[in-house]
Amino acid sequence: SADAVAAMLERIKADGVKFIRLQFSDLTGHPKNVAIPHIQAEKALTDGIGFDGSSIEGFARIEESDMVLKPDISTYTLLPWRKGEAKVARFICDVYLPNGKPFEGDPRFALKKVVAEAASMGYTFNTGPELEFFLFKMCDGEPTTQYQDVGGYFDLAPTDLAEDVRRDIVLALTEMGFEIEASHHEVAESQHEIDFKYGSALQTADNVVTFKFATKTIALLNGLHASFMAKPVYGINGSGMHTNCSLFKDGKNAFYDPDAPLQLSETALFFIGGILKHIRAITRVANPTINSYKRLVPGYEAPVYMSWSASNRTALCRVPAPRGNSTRVEIRSPDPTCNPYLTFAAILAAGLDGVKNRITPPPSADRNIFKLNAEERKAAGIDTLPGSLYESNAALMADELICNALGPHIVENLNTIAEMEWDAFRTMVHPWELDQYLSKY
Ligand code: ADP
Ligand code: MG
Ligand code: MG
Ligand code: MG
Ligand code: MG
Repeated sequence: SADAVAAMLERIKADGVKFIRLQFSDLTGHPKNVAIPHIQAEKALTDGIGFDGSSIEGFARIEESDMVLKPDISTYTLLPWRKGEAKVARFICDVYLPNGKPFEGDPRFALKKVVAEAASMGYTFNTGPELEFFLFKMCDGEPTTQYQDVGGYFDLAPTDLAEDVRRDIVLALTEMGFEIEASHHEVAESQHEIDFKYGSALQTADNVVTFKFATKTIALLNGLHASFMAKPVYGINGSGMHTNCSLFKDGKNAFYDPDAPLQLSETALFFIGGILKHIRAITRVANPTINSYKRLVPGYEAPVYMSWSASNRTALCRVPAPRGNSTRVEIRSPDPTCNPYLTFAAILAAGLDGVKNRITPPPSADRNIFKLNAEERKAAGIDTLPGSLYESNAALMADELICNALGPHIVENLNTIAEMEWDAFRTMVHPWELDQYLSKY
C-alpha cells in the first residue's frame, strides 16, 4: 500500500541508507542482486526495477528477457558488515513479467503457489532448517579444504578455534533479524551448525538464502571460506540441511494429538506418507548437485533408506521427541546446496498430497536400519533414496504431482541443468579412475 511504501521510505532515510540491493534467487538458489542508489527507492517500491532475465541460470529465454523486480517490503534489512557512512540495505524481491504477471521461473513464486494451496486447506506450513557448513582455510585468495580446526561435536575452545567466527556470524544474523536458537561445533573437523527459529516456509526460505551469504561474508572477513557443499571431504560427515516441518491450523500445531498413539495426529502421519511417496522426486531439488549423492551414503549420519521413525535417529523422516507446538517431522535428506524455495515447495506439495489422499505411511522403522541387510530391508518395505543426480532427476520427471507443483518452466530447466551436469561428470576422467587403472592396465 501507499502508506507502507511511505513508511519504508522514511525508514530508509532514517537508517542513512545510501545503496539498496534488490535480491532474488536463480534456480540453483544462488542469490543475485542489483544495487540501486537510495534515490531510486521510491521507484523500486512502487513500479519495480527492470532487469534482463536471460543471463540468469534457468531463467528466461532471450525473447522474453525483460523482467521486473518488486521488493517484498517485509524483507528489508541492513547489511551489518557494511560499516561507515554509506549504509547498505537489501530487499528480497519477487520477479514479474512486463505484463505484470508473476514470472513462473521465480523459485519464490513456486513456493508461494504451494503455500497458497495449503492456506486454502486452512494450513500454515512451518519449516525449521538446520544448516551445517565447513570453515576452511584460504590460500592465496582461493578456498581450500584445509581444516581451520580439528574440533568435534559440541567442543569448546581451544579445540574449537572457530568460536569467534561463529560468534561474529551469530551477531550479524541477529542484527539482520534472525532469532538464533543455538550454534555449535558439528561432528566433523571444522564443521559447524547454527540454528535459527522456525517460521513460515517463505520466511525461512528467504532466511536460508540470507544465512548462506551472510555466513560466507563474515567468514571471508575472518580470512576463511564457509562452504555449504554437501560432501567436501571424503571420509568424514557431509553437511546437511535437516528440514523440520509442521502444519499449523487455527494457530495450533496440526501434527499434535495428545490422545493419539505417539501423540501424532493423522495429519502428521499422512504428511509423512506423502513425503515417503514422493521423496525420490523431492531428492532432485533437495540434493541438487552431483556431490550431494556422496553424502547420502551409509556410515555418516546421513539418510540412505526411505523410512520414518519417532525413536530412531537414522530414519529419513524423524519425529523428534518434543510435542505440543514443537511437534514436527524432521526430513534429514536435504543438503545446504539446495534451493530452499523449491525444496520447501516440493516437500509441502508431497505432504499435502498425503493429507488430501490419506496416504498411510509404512510402519515406522524403529531399529537402526543401517544394521539390516538388503533382504531384511526389502521385507520391511524400505526402499533406498536415488543414488545419483541422474536417478533423482528421472524420478522427478516421472512424478506428475511434484512437477505440477514446481511448474513446467522450472521442471524443464531443472532437467536441462541435471542433464548438462551429469554429462559433464560422467564423461570426465576422475583421479579415482587413474589411481585404480593407470598402472594396473
Ligand atoms: P536436532 O535435534 O535435529 O539437532 P535442532 O535443535 O538443531 O534439532 O533444530 C531444530 C529445529 O526445529 C529448529 O530450527 C527449531 O526452530 C525447529 N522447530 C521447532 N519446532 C518446530 C515446528 N513446530 N515446526 C518446524 N520447525 C520447528
Ligand atoms: Mg541440529
Ligand atoms: Mg539441537
Ligand atoms: Mg547437525
Ligand atoms: Mg537435526
